Amino acid sequence: MPEAENAPANFIEQIIIDDLKTGKWAGRVHTRFPPEPNGYLHIGHAKSILLNFGLAEKFGGKCNLRFDDTNPVKEEEEYVESIKRDVRWLGCDWEDRLYFASDYFEQMYAWAVQLIEAGKAYVCDLSPEQTREYRGTLTRPGRNSPYRDRSIEENLDLFKRMRAGEFPDGSRTLRAKIDMAHPNLNMRDPVMYRILHAPHHRTGDAWCIYPMYDWAHGLEDSIENITHSICTLEFENHRPLYDWFLDQLHVHHPQQIEFARLNLTYTVMSKRKLLELVRERHVAGWDDPRMPTISGLRRRGVTPAAVREFCRRVGVAKFDSVIDIALLEHCIRADLNKTAPRVMGVLRPLKVVIENYPENQDEELDAINNPEDPAAGTRKVPFCRELYIERDDFREDPPRKFFRLAPGREVRLRYAYFVTCTGVIKNEAGQTVELRCTYDPATRGGDAPDGRKVKGTIHWVSARHALRADVRLYDHLFSKPDPDDVPEGQDYRANLNPQSLVVLPGCPVEPSLGTAQPGDRFQFERLGYFCVDPDSAGGRLVFNRTVTLRDTWSKLEKKMRENSRPEH
Ligand code: ATP
Ligand code: MG
Repeated sequence: MPEAENAPANFIEQIIIDDLKTGKWAGRVHTRFPPEPNGYLHIGHAKSILLNFGLAEKFGGKCNLRFDDTNPVKEEEEYVESIKRDVRWLGCDWEDRLYFASDYFEQMYAWAVQLIEAGKAYVCDLSPEQTREYRGTLTRPGRNSPYRDRSIEENLDLFKRMRAGEFPDGSRTLRAKIDMAHPNLNMRDPVMYRILHAPHHRTGDAWCIYPMYDWAHGLEDSIENITHSICTLEFENHRPLYDWFLDQLHVHHPQQIEFARLNLTYTVMSKRKLLELVRERHVAGWDDPRMPTISGLRRRGVTPAAVREFCRRVGVAKFDSVIDIALLEHCIRADLNKTAPRVMGVLRPLKVVIENYPENQDEELDAINNPEDPAAGTRKVPFCRELYIERDDFREDPPRKFFRLAPGREVRLRYAYFVTCTGVIKNEAGQTVELRCTYDPATRGGDAPDGRKVKGTIHWVSARHALRADVRLYDHLFSKPDPDDVPEGQDYRANLNPQSLVVLPGCPVEPSLGTAQPGDRFQFERLGYFCVDPDSAGGRLVFNRTVTLRDTWSKLEKKMRENSRPEH
């Protein structure tokens, strides 16, 4: 294997390579992706999924899909199904290793009893507010709970009765007995169990006490024999607690490793906020193409390959940063450029009549399906006397460097003919409603035999043959790079972009699109990449614009390269 392929791509791979050398885990690599089923997955999760499954694949190991379903109030079956769909869509395979933390509740309970018996956990009757108050702050040590020194017998009895449902919500907790003066607040007798009389989407009414994240997570990892438990940086100061629990229980003890979560400009990534956007109908649903969810990206027309390439380029680091969303768009574009067939469609139509083209005639012209992929071949596009062109491609009074259509000017109609604008027809309000042109029959296919050149090439659709499509143009959901940048007293919702969705009804598109199916992706020449929306049915065609063709990332990179060039 060439050396580059062996080289670690990031610090986590380096840790694994070292572990494999020292035989720390007997040559095993076993990771997991542990979502809580309380929302749909987003592009940040994709980074974690690809990292965990990617490491397993690279080092011949395994990766589990595990639902961390320990909070029944926020969790639902719908989320479980959507998460499975999204992980699969990314190309990751958990094989037969689909697990649920709720399947471990009995074992967790037994381990909690074990800690009580060892004098390392106690039932505490402080209210949630009191517990917070007793906890102290970063600068002030906490105080011991008055219930801290209950006897083991009393603790065992109370804990059993907590489970049996004798006490109301919030009246008691089980806490670890560690150190109320510990400099790390997470170590100040953290809560392990709370009372919650709420049915769970999988265990039903079997439980009315539920384990807290810090207690549960390490146990889940341990039960599944995980070697490298990878999580995001905010858990770094939970690691001592992760280690403490596993040390007390003398069970298999994975290594927790933290990496920087993905943040994107113009994007909110917290599930709480995404849920709010859905519930308050700022978007049409979790899979609204403006959402950073995987289902939203999919509906928008993004490919798994583009998400993978994006995550590869972002890399895995130990410090938090915000990635420019232009990089994601660049990766989407680069991928679609290779694979998406080209078609012609007009978003804001202006009618053109070719006066010297016979009234009842039409013909078919050859158009290249994908210049990046010769194997994609050609197709026929119909041409006749009446066409639509893009309104923007005509200027009555063209500025300098405008090389498209204008009175008296000749341009090329892509794959068709040279045409010259001979007349402009206006309505009473003075708006241009139609153009009159003549065509040069000798330029069929788009080249003049006399070597005459034109500066502009524009796209078009035959009016008589056009299909009509509703086209949804998407822009960033927020109008500021940092959606949380708001005046005092407001929140991220103040930055919602009112222009994030523009619908153009009845756009003329070429007839070859009549067979397009939901999910099919195309480049509309000169306009961008578009994907057929699942709302298309029974002859109705709906397209989502995935991205425009303008690559702001490439421009940015070029500028950065120029700026970093040494002076001479
Ligand atoms: P919340 O928004 O409520 O904090 P979460 O996004 O952390 O929730 P989980 O279901 O707990 O949701 O996440 C599952 C896994 O995905 C975790 O290991 C978490 O660290 C990882 N993850 C979540 N968000 C990101 C992100 N933005 N970048 C990278 N990994 C992430
Ligand atoms: Mg989380």
